[in-house]
Amino acid sequence: MSKECVIGLDIGGTNVRIGSVDLNGKLIHSRITSSKEIADGRPEDAIKDLAVFINTYVKEFVPQKVLGVAVAFPATLDAKREVLYSATNLGENAKCRFDGQNIVSGLQEWISAPVFLGKDTDFILYNDIHELHLNTSDMITGIYFGTGIGSSFFYQNDTIYGSDGVAGEIGHLPISDNRRKCTCNERQGCCETVASGWRLTELQKEYFPDTSLSDLFLKHQDSPPIQTFLYDMARVIALTGNLLNSAYTIVGGGIVNMEGFPKKQLLTLTLQMLRHPYPRDTFRMLFSPSGQNAGVLGAAQYLFRKLELSSKS
Ligand SMILES: [Zn+2]
Repeated sequence: MSKECVIGLDIGGTNVRIGSVDLNGKLIHSRITSSKEIADGRPEDAIKDLAVFINTYVKEFVPQKVLGVAVAFPATLDAKREVLYSATNLGENAKCRFDGQNIVSGLQEWISAPVFLGKDTDFILYNDIHELHLNTSDMITGIYFGTGIGSSFFYQNDTIYGSDGVAGEIGHLPISDNRRKCTCNERQGCCETVASGWRLTELQKEYFPDTSLSDLFLKHQDSPPIQTFLYDMARVIALTGNLLNSAYTIVGGGIVNMEGFPKKQLLTLTLQMLRHPYPRDTFRMLFSPSGQNAGVLGAAQYLFRKLELSSKS
């Protein structure tokens, strides 16, 4: 049994996964629980409760020496990856008790190993890059169609953060004149209003009330509403393709992993929208191999780099 490990914590809108990973990147142990355990409570206790959550897990399930802890939030973060700006899917009414808090310095008071903070999709992309064996000096884009649309960009061995830390909010690029309000505020017509999980749920309620959400692509793939939805997903991918000319564009998330999802058609539609001959002719779209523990495993890959344990990654 390995004597050392790192801890990854992947906080989602619904569930939290925490796990220990050995220095070869192999999951040793993981646990899933409701996000409410972390999201509910007073802002003044938020950091302390999170620290207790981590320390209790380590005490109960981790006999190894912990070399580092990385925590992922579904949130916008500052460029130094210390302060959480906002996490609209955690907590209630787009407010969460961690908003505006310095998570790293707060947790560091309670946790003896070095603590790091990351955006959820940044860590998923770390895991994808690792699993797909991609060259990290290349420009790599990750686009994840889940409840919202998450993304992350990697260039020359690091995530691109932007000057305020919020680069890559492609879910909130204004793309449509549909007047549908987005979760981000009073704005309308963001990419998430046409190509996200919550949009798919709206389509299901409006057009296919007798079909479960999980069967939508299986049963209604050729219907106009679903074809429009796929077209809009391709628009989001092509927008970033034309903008960034990445060596690889990784596409993932719950929607893409639904049964019957037409991956081939998504690629065809995307290629039709890319400028040609370039970036279309060299466009490489890969589907994310990330499974349910990707956030934890990606957090570990991130820690290996930050703690210079990268020879083992
Ligand atoms: Zn928006």
